[in-house]
Amino acid sequence: MVRKEKLIEIKKDPIKLRKHREGSKRYKEKLKKDPIRYKHFLEMHKKHEKNRRLRNIEKERELARKRYYYMSKEKKQKIFEQNKLKRILNRKNLIKQWGNKCQKCGYSEHPEILQFDHIVPLYRGTNRIKKIVGDKMIKEVKEHPERFDLLCPNCHILKTHKEVQELLLLKKPDEQM
Ligand SMILES: [Zn+2]
Repeated sequence: MVRKEKLIEIKKDPIKLRKHREGSKRYKEKLKKDPIRYKHFLEMHKKHEKNRRLRNIEKERELARKRYYYMSKEKKQKIFEQNKLKRILNRKNLIKQWGNKCQKCGYSEHPEILQFDHIVPLYRGTNRIKKIVGDKMIKEVKEHPERFDLLCPNCHILKTHKEVQELLLLKKPDEQM
């Protein structure tokens, strides 16, 4: 607590703040000479930062929401476009890592239109179909690449069609399409 109050006081005074920063820089450089202590320092720092973020996550979200609410329309539009561009680039990079072609038929003319397909359909074993799109999908593919196949839209829809047919067969043998 005392340390926190001290820090708040230091932050008010630019000269003191500069001195404080230089001091911590020197301390860090000194620590670097001792690898074991430096490693420990880094680990503790990481832990501390994580805890701080966890403690303040709700506050930060609320602030971000407020900031966004009072933004001008142009700025909102700009943010929207930036996010979209980022998403497209992320997807493009990911598809490149996967070899830029359909893993069933080898289609590679326009790699941008390739799609990630769940090898085991989402609705198997559950009643609910939870759709994952955009950033969440990219994150999921990165975390569990073994769950996915990269297919062209044609192969993808054919696979889905077959799965749906199978499902219909299982459920209603008389009312097949
Ligand atoms: Zn294909």
